[in-house]
Amino acid sequence: MSHGGAMELYQVLLAAYGRQKWWPADSALAMMAGAILVQNTAWTGAARAVQRLAEAGLLEAAALRQVDDERLWERIRPAGYFRVKGQRLRALATFLADYGDNCQRLFRLETTELRNALLKVHGIGKETADSIVCYGGGRAIFVVDAYTRRLFHRLGWSSAKADYDQLQQLVMGTVPPEADMLAEFHALIVRHAKNHCRSKPLCHGCPVVFCPGHSFPQGRE
Ligand code: SF4
Repeated sequence: MSHGGAMELYQVLLAAYGRQKWWPADSALAMMAGAILVQNTAWTGAARAVQRLAEAGLLEAAALRQVDDERLWERIRPAGYFRVKGQRLRALATFLADYGDNCQRLFRLETTELRNALLKVHGIGKETADSIVCYGGGRAIFVVDAYTRRLFHRLGWSSAKADYDQLQQLVMGTVPPEADMLAEFHALIVRHAKNHCRSKPLCHGCPVVFCPGHSFPQGRE
């Protein structure tokens, strides 16, 4: 990938789709809960689960620690994998107790320290941790997901088996470390994956004109 590749991609996507203004959440805890609830599911189900937690007064760390399993599962069922995700939400709430249940105290940690602390929480992997660091903590970090992997591979920037750190470095090593831009970049990639770069891509009319997919008259299969 050329040095300008990631920056050019960002500019093309921004011009095509405009600012996405992620992450939609009413509070830091709602954001973090959403980052767990969206694991392996679509955002609509996760958003519904966050809303149902809020309606039940469960978007408080103490309430999440105390609520019984059945009630928690019933609230987050729209996000799927509700037993696993319930356990992860509880682990997050237990972790937050070390910060006085104050997310802003957590977000005062230095970026690497914050990321490492989150990675120690049960059920929080790199994608979820980076989502929280980026959209909750407002830090300059690029979130990698399955859409990123697919797009970068189709662009010829990475192998299909490139790992999380390699894909993250493709961006972090080439664009300015600006929090707002990196937050938008990930959101734009998700938007692009839904509009054009789907599992069966719609290359016709795709704004990423430098992608090899445009070499195929009917687009990629
Ligand atoms: S040209 Fe096709 S494969 Fe390339 S980014 Fe666009 S939709 Fe994806």
